[in-house]
Amino acid sequence: MSTRDQVAEIYEQVRLRNAGEPEFHQAAAEVFESLQVVLDHHPHYADSGLIERLCEPERQIIFRVPWVDDSGNVHVNRGFRVQYNSVLGPYKGGLRFHPSVNLGIVKFLGFEQIFKNALTGLPIGGGKGGSDFDPKGRSEAEIMRFCQSFMTELHRHIGEYTDVPAGDIGVGGREIGYLFGQYKRLTNSYESGVLTGKGLTWGGSQVRREATGYGVAYFVAEMLKAANSSLDGKTVVVSGSGNVAIYAIEKVHQLGGIAIASSDSSGYLVDEKGIDLELLKEIKEVRRGRISEYADTVPHARFVPNGSIWDVPCDVALPCATQNELDEAAAKTLVTNGVQAVAEGANMPTTPQGVQVFRDAAVAFAPGKAANAGGVATSALEMQQNASRDSWGFEYTDERLAGIMRGIHERTVATAAEYGMPGDYVHGANIAGFVKVADAMISLGV
Ligand code: GLU
Repeated sequence: MSTRDQVAEIYEQVRLRNAGEPEFHQAAAEVFESLQVVLDHHPHYADSGLIERLCEPERQIIFRVPWVDDSGNVHVNRGFRVQYNSVLGPYKGGLRFHPSVNLGIVKFLGFEQIFKNALTGLPIGGGKGGSDFDPKGRSEAEIMRFCQSFMTELHRHIGEYTDVPAGDIGVGGREIGYLFGQYKRLTNSYESGVLTGKGLTWGGSQVRREATGYGVAYFVAEMLKAANSSLDGKTVVVSGSGNVAIYAIEKVHQLGGIAIASSDSSGYLVDEKGIDLELLKEIKEVRRGRISEYADTVPHARFVPNGSIWDVPCDVALPCATQNELDEAAAKTLVTNGVQAVAEGANMPTTPQGVQVFRDAAVAFAPGKAANAGGVATSALEMQQNASRDSWGFEYTDERLAGIMRGIHERTVATAAEYGMPGDYVHGANIAGFVKVADAMISLGV
């Protein structure tokens, strides 16, 4: 059997074994496409069940999360932690609290995380977790009780040298605080390195909050540089208005670009003069309000309910909201409107058909594994600071982050060229991540 047939057969097995998990299939299919190219050059990676082992998480934990709301009613949610691969270091990856969370979603995220974390060059394995809990409209006290209940079970599965969760959608500094507090209570030890994204006074790292967004901006700046261009004066559309989007906008502005649009689940906002970030932060971070409030304050801005943010013409598109938010039709609109570069701040926000549109149009397209790795990379820097009981300054940490993003860009571009696909960031990222993990798995044996 040819290696290509072998890969196709393994993919089919993976699909059957993980029935009803379309997002996981999608994430795996994308990596498998790159694997075909790797095996053409190095057939030995198909030996010893390596690919089968890589696709099967080392451990999957599903647990009950009971909690009491402010009226005294009991709710039961489902908690997940998928400990996917620990060959390069402790499992590392965020926790997502969102009603769409299920095992398939957590597996897709965990699978991507393996390669993303490998690409950073830092010693972290891949994992992901979360719950189908919906934090929207919940009081502070309810959020706290939920986090405490979630950690009451999770704490026995994690640890500084075992598995180090962090935030993702619906889990920010506030939730990490409640989770860490409960872990500390249950274990009677101040194990700072067990979670990342902590507050600055209790073991957190400067720049961690900003890191995913800043990293995306650094990465897209490198992409433009590689095409003999720059962010200077470019119009940028950033979907989402959470942690990733807000700090992508901040760094885009610092690097000379103009972010003109962002969104939330109620619609999108356009401010042609450039988004007033202080106002956006006030609305989203302080008031925890809706993006439409921006247009109430800024008369020249417009809020469009229920439309597609990708209709807004721009030079650069940064999807920073959620998976599969940018589909084929949106990609076509962006291409028609002259987009020059697309970098994913969210995990897998572009559908496979959307990616194909960018590929056909030769638009530089960077997958989340490469472009949004700044968040988890800075989490690894937080772990470093915790392990050495040190804390670094903002500028130094930001420089480290910029250097890491440049390194990921270089590795991705070099790998794509080495495998005969120059400029293909998708293959470059998948192959560079895969080879690092695969070589380590071979060294450690079955
Ligand atoms: N949730 C982020 C990601 O998707 C960060 C994970 C972390 O810092 O561990 O990469």
